[in-house]
Amino acid sequence: MRQTNILEIIQTLGPITGNQIAEKLNLSRAALRSDLAILTMSKLVSAKPKVGYYFTGRDLQQLNTMSFDAILIADTLSSPIVVRENSTVYDAIVTLFTEDVGTIFVVSEDNFLEGALSRKDLLKAAMGGKNNNDLPVNIIMTRMPKIILTTPEESVLSAAQKLLYHQVDALPVVKIIKEGETTKYQVVGRFTKTNITRLFVQLAEK
Ligand code: ADP
Repeated sequence: MRQTNILEIIQTLGPITGNQIAEKLNLSRAALRSDLAILTMSKLVSAKPKVGYYFTGRDLQQLNTMSFDAILIADTLSSPIVVRENSTVYDAIVTLFTEDVGTIFVVSEDNFLEGALSRKDLLKAAMGGKNNNDLPVNIIMTRMPKIILTTPEESVLSAAQKLLYHQVDALPVVKIIKEGETTKYQVVGRFTKTNITRLFVQLAEK
């Protein structure tokens, strides 16, 4: 909201100094520093020493096309990295390294979601002093129904909000399968903070 206000001021009154903008908004110059930095970096405004900030005329609509809510998980998901529920902690740690991932999902024999293992879950188990060759992952994993999920049909924006809100690094992408009264979740992919970063860069470079 504040960046929009600043932009309007620069559009109508520019070139204008940072101090003058601050005065108009009843704020200190320091309080505006990060907003002005973002507007400058986004190339919506430019600044010249002793002249001030001026609008560079880039179309605001262009920014709106970066709509993460129009992109679906199906467009951006990665392949799932899973271990079976009877795998050992040792196996899971090896998988973490060989597959170069931060989160592993735990599945049943028939590939239905049972749990999740994060880097720190495995680190904690490794520090616990037990024999990791004997310790099954289902003792240490976060298990269903606590797992936060996404589906191929969900928007990237909504899944990204889940990552932030629940403070996790990755979501399993699942196909929901109803069998009578029971619902099962077949793991078809993973969606992580890396997917968002990649998408952000692709959109920005476009
Ligand atoms: P780390 O533990 O390495 O910081 P996370 O923040 O992703 O990584 O995980 C925090 C905790 O949440 C871990 O105990 C992990 O088992 C659990 N977790 C990981 N992914 C999910 C998920 N999609 N839904 C629910 N819990 C999760």
